[in-house]
Amino acid sequence: MRRISIFGATGSIGQSALDLIGRNRGAYQVVALTGGRNVAQLAKDARQFDAEIAVTAFDECLDDLQSALAGSGVRVAAGQAALLEAADIQADWILSAIVGAAGLAPGFRALRHGTTLALANKESLVAAGPILLSEAKRYGARILPVDSEHSAIFQALVGEDISTVERIIITASGGAFRDWPIDKLAGATLAQAQTHPNWDMGQRITIDSASMFNKALEVIETKEYFEISPDKIEVIIHPQSLVHAMVGFKDGGIMAHLGAADMRHAIGYALFWPDRGHIPVERLDFAKIVQLQFRAPDDQRWPALRLAREVIAAGGFNGAVFNAAKETALDGFIDGRIGFMDMAQIVEETLIQLSGDLPNNIVDSGLETVLEIDQMSRQRAAKIIGARQA
Ligand code: NDP
Repeated sequence: MRRISIFGATGSIGQSALDLIGRNRGAYQVVALTGGRNVAQLAKDARQFDAEIAVTAFDECLDDLQSALAGSGVRVAAGQAALLEAADIQADWILSAIVGAAGLAPGFRALRHGTTLALANKESLVAAGPILLSEAKRYGARILPVDSEHSAIFQALVGEDISTVERIIITASGGAFRDWPIDKLAGATLAQAQTHPNWDMGQRITIDSASMFNKALEVIETKEYFEISPDKIEVIIHPQSLVHAMVGFKDGGIMAHLGAADMRHAIGYALFWPDRGHIPVERLDFAKIVQLQFRAPDDQRWPALRLAREVIAAGGFNGAVFNAAKETALDGFIDGRIGFMDMAQIVEETLIQLSGDLPNNIVDSGLETVLEIDQMSRQRAAKIIGARQA
């Protein structure tokens, strides 16, 4: 039986993973489940899956979690240190599905034990890719991609030599505002931004899809994970979200990964890897697919894509600044302090202001340096937002 833990179990990815595990109960033993403020869900799942420990990231949620799990035999803990301790408990497979930079430290900790890390938390690769990969190498741990595009690329590369890859094409639905007139985007509301045409995801990643910050993170994630030159990475708008990514080889052939827009594809591939398991997603009926459309993205509508290329070119800790500034700008948009198109401007301004203050060598640095830069970037981005409001 494989021992598995889920960090961010109460979220969209975590719940989809538990759905798959629930259908294969005999194969898995659930070790740790972690969540944030959704204590009721965490307790329900910990009981249902007979977890060894349930951890909430927030100290103030401990009493509620304790009450909800009283008499269950499930151990209970709270806080950041408890999250790291949960990552220390022996497991064969850990899913990193906490949203944002908060997901970095538990994933890093799991790698130290040589645990296979199924990585949904793309922020880990964006903010600290070279360090994460070198830690995985050092401790003999494997990282499996869970983002749908990266799982698709990973699958297209099975048995291939990466040096024969000419291009990697990641698809983007275009999000909520794909067909809006550009001059209306500045007035887009939160309610409008948090609806996705195809995917059912958490609130933050749905808004990031509308702004294309999600795709910007994925371009950086692709470069880091597959260690491929950025000029080989392309983004294409594909409104149907059925082709998740394509890999083009030097002979001109292209391998495409298709499937329904359901994250259980990518989560299941990582869960069952190196085998393939049954995944209860909708099967595509090609006779009913009227069309697969593709079109080039437009930098004016989605400045985040241009910023991602600039961040890759600048290298080093710029990914950490980019991610932290993006998260802070997103908070600002969710709280109604800034408009939709202001997010990219805040991120760009933060990158410009901090570019001269960053250490040079990321590979020889540790996670602590990344987290310091993350904090510094959040403060700077918040200051820029504050100055705009004044
Ligand atoms: P959700 O917002 O749905 O869930 C986030 C999870 O993280 C919840 O369990 C939440 O707890 C927990 N959490 C929130 N804040 C903290 C914190 N400060 N410390 C510890 N835990 C915290 O996110 P998603 O499931 O949508 O996304 C998770 C990750 O997967 C992200 O990195 C995202 O980019 C990535 N991803 C998501 C996809 C999707 O389809 N949703 C697709 C590809 C990648 P609680 O809810 O209890 O407060």
